Amino acid sequence: MRQKVIAGNWKMNKVMTEAEDFVIEAGKHIPADENVEAIVCAPFPFLPALVEKTKNTRLKIAAQTMHYEENGAYTGEVSPLMLKNIGVTHVVLGHSERRQYYNETDETVNQKAIAAFKHGLTPIVCVGETLEEREANKTKDVVTEQVQKALTDLTPDQVAQTIVAYEPIWAIGTGKTASSADANEVCSHIRNVIKDVTDKSVSEQVVIQYGGSVKPANIDELLSQSDIDGALVGGASLEVDSFLKLVEAGTK
Ligand code: PGA
Repeated sequence: MRQKVIAGNWKMNKVMTEAEDFVIEAGKHIPADENVEAIVCAPFPFLPALVEKTKNTRLKIAAQTMHYEENGAYTGEVSPLMLKNIGVTHVVLGHSERRQYYNETDETVNQKAIAAFKHGLTPIVCVGETLEEREANKTKDVVTEQVQKALTDLTPDQVAQTIVAYEPIWAIGTGKTASSADANEVCSHIRNVIKDVTDKSVSEQVVIQYGGSVKPANIDELLSQSDIDGALVGGASLEVDSFLKLVEAGTK
């Protein structure tokens, strides 16, 4: 059985004391159930402190992006080596906000995924269509290309460990969730794309999350679907109670 992975994406929110208080409290209550993994994706300045505050808990700490080079003349950037070195375990790659505002492309997502594995980080690769693309019936074409390009040159073992987050852009931060059946249809399509680039046994191991206005009130329904193995959650991950409810849903 695939693990359920619930990741809270804080985006550019909180200050240090709020971030620390959150993980101290949440860390105490993550269920001791190996079938669910809980991750907080936090802004860079908080990462070392959050890793430290969660070291005896089951809560993992992720970055929200990174560069693909190990070091060099890239002012303002953070490298996979730096993240691994401080104890970060996961990194979100290709979030739609990075694609939209910071020129992230399928090619850079791929370079970053390769770099993540090189440094022992697990990538959470985000894919998803715009409203326009959905209305033009292009959802599957768009995510096929995004998934194929993101996974190029990864070994089958690395593909198996990759977390893919399907996030329809029109559902992010809008309160509009894809229906669980629609979300599952795309997640199942993504698994097929992965099967085509590797094989069935690899594709069956890949954790595929849904993201886009997930909240405690709709997560059970989403997680009950055959190909949805977790959630990447923005707004509803900012309060401890709500985050813990989402993680709890992963144990059912
Ligand atoms: P949302 O954000 O849950 O606030 O819609 C999801 C995301 O951007 O990962």
